[in-house]
Formats: sequence, C-alpha cells, structure tokens
Amino acid sequence: MLEYRTLFLDGVQAAPSSTHSITVRSAATEEIIGSVPAAVEADVDAAVAAARRALDDHRGWSGWHPAERAATLDRLASEFEARGEEVAARVAQQNGMPISTALALESALPAAVYRYYAELVRNTEFEELRAGLLGGAAHVRRVPVGVVGAIIPWNYPNLLTSFKVAPALAAGCAIVLKPSPETTLDSYLFAEAVVRSEVPAGVVGIVPGGADIGRYLVSHPGIDKVTFTGSTAVGREIGGRCGELLRPVTLELGGKSAAIILDDADLTLHAEGLFQATLLNNGQTCVANTRILAPRGRYAEVVDFFAEMVKGCSVGDPLLPETQVGPLVSENHRRRVEGYIARGIADGARLIAGGGRPAHLDRGWFVEPTLFADVDPASVIAQEEIFGPVLSVMPYDSVADAVRIANDTGYGLAGTIWTADVDAARGIGRAVDSGTLGINHYMLDPVAPFGGIKASGLGRELGPEGLAAYLQSRTTYLAPA
Ligand code: NAD
Repeated sequence: MLEYRTLFLDGVQAAPSSTHSITVRSAATEEIIGSVPAAVEADVDAAVAAARRALDDHRGWSGWHPAERAATLDRLASEFEARGEEVAARVAQQNGMPISTALALESALPAAVYRYYAELVRNTEFEELRAGLLGGAAHVRRVPVGVVGAIIPWNYPNLLTSFKVAPALAAGCAIVLKPSPETTLDSYLFAEAVVRSEVPAGVVGIVPGGADIGRYLVSHPGIDKVTFTGSTAVGREIGGRCGELLRPVTLELGGKSAAIILDDADLTLHAEGLFQATLLNNGQTCVANTRILAPRGRYAEVVDFFAEMVKGCSVGDPLLPETQVGPLVSENHRRRVEGYIARGIADGARLIAGGGRPAHLDRGWFVEPTLFADVDPASVIAQEEIFGPVLSVMPYDSVADAVRIANDTGYGLAGTIWTADVDAARGIGRAVDSGTLGINHYMLDPVAPFGGIKASGLGRELGPEGLAAYLQSRTTYLAPA
C-alpha cells in the first residue's frame, strides 16, 4: 500500500491544503493499492504561483541558456529511466497495461522523448534577423508562452506527460500537470526524477484530481496555455473555455482508426504488428486500429486470422511478462466497454470470439478480447471509440471503397495500411484523412508531429512542431539605416 500525504507544488513535497484524498485500486485485483492527496483550488493556486515565480525571478528558467535547459532535460531522462521499472509496474497495476508494454512505452520511450527535446533545443535558433521588404530589418524572437496547464489521461500517463513536459521545458515554460485520478501513484516517481535532475523549484508542479480541478486549472488566470489529452467530449469543453479566454490550446483527443489490409498483405508476417496496432494496452489506446478493413475476396481469411489472434492471446495479470492483454482501468470503464459489446450484438454484428469476461479470472476488470464480423460501417460500434479490446472486421470492394470507409468517421487520428507494396501504400495513404498513418506497423516516432484532425484534436505534439507549440513569436522592426 502506497500512502502519499504530500503534493509536489513548488519543488518539494509539502503538505496539501485539504484532507481530501484519492484512492487508487489495482485493475487486476480490484484491491486498494494506494492513496494520494487530492489537490484543491488552493493547491492549484500555489502551483501556478510557484510556476510564475520560476519564470519571473531574475534569470528564471525561461532566461536560462537553451544548452542549460537541455542539460537539465538530459538529467531528467536519466533520473526517470532510473525509476523506469518501478514506474512501469505502478502503471501496469493502476490501468492494467501489460508490463512488457509499460516497460517500453511508459519507461523507455518517455526517457527518449526527454533526450530528443534536449538535443532539439541545442540545435534550435530562438532569434533571427530578417532583411526587411521595405528596407530596414525585422528582429524575430521566439519566447516561451509562459505557464502551461497540462491535463493527462490515465492510459499512458508517463508517455503523455513527456509529450508535454519535454517540449514545454525545452522552450523555457513552466508547467502544472494534472494527472488522472486513476493513475496518480506513478506521478510521485516522476516528481522524484524532477527533483533529482535539479529542475528549478516551481518549473514543474503536480496537482492530482478529477474534472473539477481540471476545469479550475484550465480557467486559472495564471495559466498562459493549456494542453490536454483525453476524450473528445472533454476536449470540446476545454477548447470552448480556451476560446472564450483567447488562451492557446492543444487538444489530443479520441480516435476510431482503420487498418486497411490490401490484397497482397501477408498477415502471418505482420502478426505481431497487427496485434500492436489493434490491441495495444488492452485496446485502451487512442491510436488503436479497431476497424479492420478486408478485401472481400479475403474477408473470411482475415476474420479467421483475427479470430485466432484474439482467442490465442494471453489474458491475465498485467505484471506477468507473458501477458498480452490485461484488465481495463476501472469497473466503470468495463461497464462502458461491455455496453458497446451488447450494442454490437443488438445492432446485428456477428460475434466471432470473446464478448464476455475471461472464465479463468475471478477478479479484476477483465473483458475477453472480442471480435465482431459483418459490422455495418455506420453502426455505433463502428463509429464510436470503445477504448477496450473490441475489434470489428468489415469487407470492402475496392481500394477506393476501403479509403471511403476508413474516412467515414468523425475522427482522424491514425490508421494503417498492410501490404507487400510500400510505394502503393504511400500513394493510398495520401487519401486517408488522419493526422498519422503507419505502413506495416503503427508506432509513433518522437521526431515527427503527432496529432489528429476532425474530432481527434487540434494542434500537434512531438517533433519541432511540438516545440513550436510552446513558443510565441515577438517581432521588433528596425528602421532603415
Ligand atoms: P477524459 O477526457 O475523461 O479525462 C482526461 C483527463 O481530463 C483526466 O485527467 C480527467 O480528470 C480530466 N478531465 C475530465 N473532465 C474534465 C473537465 N471538464 N475539465 C478539465 N479536465 C477534465 O479521458 P480519459 O478517459 O482519461 O482518457 C481516454 C481518452 O483519452 C480517450 O478518448 C482517448 O482516445 C484519449 N486519448 C487521446 C490521445 C491522443 O494523443 N490523441 C492519447 C491518449 C488518450
């Protein structure tokens, strides 16, 4: 049992303003595994004030030479990595992520993101003198936007924290993070890494809490920019509020991506990649390719292939290295996923495999990996984000038909094409309406912009584009000599 009694608001762990707490349960055992104080408004005020001080003090964080901030980010990468196994284990317990995935995506990849932004900021010019069109010159400076309010979901808490903290710190911003109540225990290890890497006090603050404290943070007068990852419904609310406040906002939201299997795809060759693209983290993945589009001539074969995949995967304790599918994050979330399975059956989809709870597990919020065939592309399970291990296979008649079905949702986050002809896939991929697309795998890369179109979000994270989101341009016009 991990019982934390302090909050990380101004560079040290200190007493919270209230006695409210958040209880955290294991997704696999349903038992209470820890508790942390719930931040209240006064705690957010304190974290935002500390962030402001960190920026405004003489030679504050934003005034550091970029190379000094880069060195700090490199230390943060190492300190985070040193705690990586413990972070991965806590995440696996809290949200059900299989430990093999957690070690890769919640430990190794965030460290790589901190290092990537350290290197990028060493090689970024923040000032430029442009010859004027009308004589004279324009001096353009790129300065940090200021204090950032960041709201994180529970599905990849450390990876998504790194997507926000790394570029924000590289740019010279300070950041107040609100983790999800389901995944707060790991944030204490992150806070330790922040302290040990000598990030100045106030540059990072952490305010665990739910929707109310999230709303308070978004609207706080001391916040200059909001960055949010989470559901589309909440993203719309936050976007609306930021619109009223004229506050810059980045929104990374839901998805309903398609895997287009072409006629020449070798399914066996890509078995591991297809599993990762569709069922990673028990389907609790925004980029999951849960709509599988199969050429009509291979439809039965594709259905059989995925039926074998979902029936054959090892479902169980997320802490075991052989586990491929763990439990869902919470009882509520399982109820929601089961509701979608019932809806699929009611709407006439053919249940091929799964659909219930695994017989060999008597506790934990497990759902069997589930496969539907003959799914109407317009039906609820084909249109709405389920966020669990539930896949739908649909036939298509031509490549143009496949692209039409892939694009026929409100979302536009990711997608894949599976084929022996990569050049052809690149051509087809141009017609897919999504912010990102994978050919013969789906794994995002920190060097390139990541984000969605349509209801999947606004703005981009990662790559130099992700750094630009934490900078604003200031221009000084110099008169002709
Ligand atoms: P959620 O929207 O319910 O919550 C996300 C975060 O917002 C949590 O920290 C929550 O406490 C907070 N929150 C909730 N209501 C709020 C409000 N009104 N104002 C401010 N903050 C509020 O989402 P979730 O269930 O935690 O996460 C799953 C969702 O996140 C899925 O839709 C998934 O697709 C999406 N997601 C998107 C990406 C991406 O990069 N596009 C990545 C991961 C997850």
